[in-house]
Amino acid sequence: MIARPMTGRPMAALTFCCPRCKGSLESFTGRYECRACPAVYPIIAGIPDFRLYSDPYISLEADREKGLRLAAEAGRLDFPALVARYYAITPEVLPQQARRFTAHHLAGVQRGNSILARLAAYGLAANGPVLDLGCGTAGFVAAAAAAGHEVVGVDIAFRWLVIGRRRLAGLGYEALPLVCACADHLPFPDGRFSLVVAENLLEHVPSVAAVLAEAGRVCAPGGGLLARTVNRFAPGPEPHVGVWGLGFLPRRWMDPAVRRLKGIPYEHIHLQSALSLGRLLRALGQPDLALRPPLLSPAELAYLPPGQQRLLVWYGRLVGLGPPWQPLLWPLLTLFGPYLDVIARTAAPLRS
Ligand SMILES: [Zn+2]
Repeated sequence: MIARPMTGRPMAALTFCCPRCKGSLESFTGRYECRACPAVYPIIAGIPDFRLYSDPYISLEADREKGLRLAAEAGRLDFPALVARYYAITPEVLPQQARRFTAHHLAGVQRGNSILARLAAYGLAANGPVLDLGCGTAGFVAAAAAAGHEVVGVDIAFRWLVIGRRRLAGLGYEALPLVCACADHLPFPDGRFSLVVAENLLEHVPSVAAVLAEAGRVCAPGGGLLARTVNRFAPGPEPHVGVWGLGFLPRRWMDPAVRRLKGIPYEHIHLQSALSLGRLLRALGQPDLALRPPLLSPAELAYLPPGQQRLLVWYGRLVGLGPPWQPLLWPLLTLFGPYLDVIARTAAPLRS
C-alpha cells in the first residue's frame, strides 16, 4: 500500500461506456447518450445515473427525488447531520434500526481502513485505480483516497451517493467520482481498474454470478477482487435483522420468520454460503479464487448490538489464531463463520 495521507487523487480521465451495450458514450450537458444504442443516461446533481433498474427498496424516481432533497440540504448540513436528516425523512426505518445504521455510516472511514488492511493481508495491492462496488456513503472511497489511491465509488442508491459526496467534501475529496450504476451492468470499459472491492454487496444483488463476472471484466489482467459477504450458514445472528441461525431455514421461511420475530420484512437479501459461492466461482472458471473467513476490526462491529459485538470479538480471536490452529479452524470458519471473503487475482478477466 502506498501511504500518502490526505492526497486523494482524482481519476485521470475517467471515461464511461454504455452499461447496456458497452458502446461509447457522447457527453452532453446534463446527460450521456450512447452512440451504439438508444440509451440516454442523466447526470443528476452532478452524479451520472447509469442504472438499468432501481434499488429494490425504492423506485428510480423516488430515489432521485430523495437524493435531490438531500443535495439541497447538503450545503448547510455536515455529513453526520445529513445522515440524521436521511433517517428523519425515512420513517419506514424503525428508530432502533436507524441508530444502528447511523453508527455504521459514521464508522465508514474506519471500516474503509480495515478493508485496506485486509487487502494488504491478502496481498491484493492496488497498482492502479480502485473501484468500490456498493460504496454506500463512500467510507472506503475516503479511506482509499487518504491512502493515496485513485478510487471510484459505485452504488445503486443515488440518495446514498449524495450523502457520500457530503462526506468526501468534508474531507477535501469532492473531486472523487461517485457513479450511480447497477453492479452487474457497469459503465466502465474492460480492464479499467487494478482492484475491485465489494463489501457487503453480494447478499443484496439479484445475481452474484453476474456481478462477479462484471467485476472481472472491469478488472485489469493481474488485478484483484475482494468481496465480503454474510455467510448464510452462520449459527449466530443474521447481521441485517439479528435473528439467530436464520440462514438454516429454507429461503421461503426466512421472511415470515423475521416478520414474526422482529416485525420487519426480510426481502431482497439472498445470503450465500461457502458451498454456493464455491460452486459459482468454479463455474466462472477462474483458477485463482479463494474463500476466507475475514478478520473483523472494531469499526466493522460498530453498528451491531453489544451481544453480537461480543460474539464477533470471539470470532476475531479464532480467526487471528496462527498455526497450528489455522489449518483446522479456517475451513470450519469458512463454512460456519459470520462472513466470507471472496478473493480473486485475475490472471485474465473472469469469464461468465
Ligand atoms: Zn448502448
